[in-house]
Amino acid sequence: MPTRRSRGALPGHDGRFAVVDPATGEAFDEAPDQQPAELDTVVERAHAAWRGWRADPAARSAALLAAADAVEAAEAGLAPLLTREQGKPLAESSSEVARTVARLRYFAELDQGPQPIRDGRPVRSEIRWRSLGPVAAIVPWNFPLQLASAKIAPALAAGNTVVLKPSPYTPLATRLLGAVIADVLPDDVLTVVTGHEPLGARLAAHPGIRHVTFTGSIPTGRAVARSAAASLARVTLELGGNDAAILLEDVDVERIADRLFWAAFRNCGQVCMAVKRVYAPARLCSRVVEALAHRAKTAVVGAGLDPGTQLGPLNNAAQLARIERCTARALADGARAAAGGHRPDSPGYFFSPTILADVPPVSPVVTEEQFGPVLPVLPYDSVDEAVDAANGTGFGLGGSVWAADLERAEAVADRLECGTVWINHHAELSLAQPFAGIKESGVGVAGGPWGLSGNLRPFVVHRREET
Ligand code: NAD
Repeated sequence: MPTRRSRGALPGHDGRFAVVDPATGEAFDEAPDQQPAELDTVVERAHAAWRGWRADPAARSAALLAAADAVEAAEAGLAPLLTREQGKPLAESSSEVARTVARLRYFAELDQGPQPIRDGRPVRSEIRWRSLGPVAAIVPWNFPLQLASAKIAPALAAGNTVVLKPSPYTPLATRLLGAVIADVLPDDVLTVVTGHEPLGARLAAHPGIRHVTFTGSIPTGRAVARSAAASLARVTLELGGNDAAILLEDVDVERIADRLFWAAFRNCGQVCMAVKRVYAPARLCSRVVEALAHRAKTAVVGAGLDPGTQLGPLNNAAQLARIERCTARALADGARAAAGGHRPDSPGYFFSPTILADVPPVSPVVTEEQFGPVLPVLPYDSVDEAVDAANGTGFGLGGSVWAADLERAEAVADRLECGTVWINHHAELSLAQPFAGIKESGVGVAGGPWGLSGNLRPFVVHRREET
């Protein structure tokens, strides 16, 4: 398989757009503002490259392992750039790069061999998995590299080519990732495009795209599904969540408080499967509020590049405004801020980590996805009531149960309507597991062998053994 230098992002446009450092609120760099008209050429080239890329699984696997090595070697450039445009602490950016490397290696080595079908008939039947064609991968700004790799690793391993579009808030680390990977792959197997809407909408609607794999908000997910309906391309949607953590009566509050706090506040709460609501037995509620408020008040908030920072800023001004709005609304609804509740007196998109008590269950901070450093803690009287509240939204991404009695916790966990449930922790994923939201949280399955099959089609061959 030839490996010629490819740029990973197209030049040749006139415009560029500013990229802002959320720790200062100031622009620090620019990215190409590519226009939808450029997509015809990009997709045409991705289609042409597909012929060679799909032909040789062993060469593909070797190329993806080389891509993983190249990304690992580029960590010192990728991680600080990611922190600069996204805001997260540098250690979290380094983990994101490490996860990207691990994902490329995992999918490079997954078996794609033929699968026999045995049904007792004198016919030899087998499924030979085939690739789909050019894949559009559209990702948000909260985990730009990790989510890009969650899409490109299985899509490329399956033999598809990929056009990757990052969020305009975080185009730079993804462009660098694209350049590093494209350097060791044949031309046009992976192309990164950057720009503003309607670039994503036009990519999702492009007739040459055979699979649209999207991560982002529920309203945009709906728009993507509508766009892809034009060509009837396959659609995989990983959408928003409003995960509940249910604490049971026997929980040791002090023992779990750190884990619970960081399950809600990592990446400044901008995690699809963060804990976004806590339900505590009424008897324990004030202790839970106090324990979480203590952690919120002592967490080190600052620029992601400062050593020692535990919590960075929100990624962008619109997200900060959303968090200010939903916190102000909760306080107006009668909630009490046991910690935070306001912006600190500093430039950038910072918001003080906030723990809310006495929140009416109908307040939007409970019923909607806040996606920021604000956590409501709600009391319950019976476990049935807590389970009903946890299940009582349109979301269905994840959930967790926290208790000393693990059997009892499992029984409650089993009743949660979501794709993944954790006991005594939250939001940890294995590369080998399926990841799928239910209800409005998603369509299709990512992760593990299921993520690979999401990028393949079955081609069935029946052969009679007698002529
Ligand atoms: P978003 O939906 O606004 O944008 C996501 C991506 O879609 C961006 O690249 C954006 O430019 C692009 N886009 C915007 N309009 C489009 C259109 N009409 N057609 C095609 N593409 C379009 O989401 P966001 O604000 O960037 O990210 C936050 C959301 O992502 C949250 O709701 C969060 O829960 C969700 N998320 C989900 C998962 C998951 O795995 N379930 C993971 C991370 C984030």
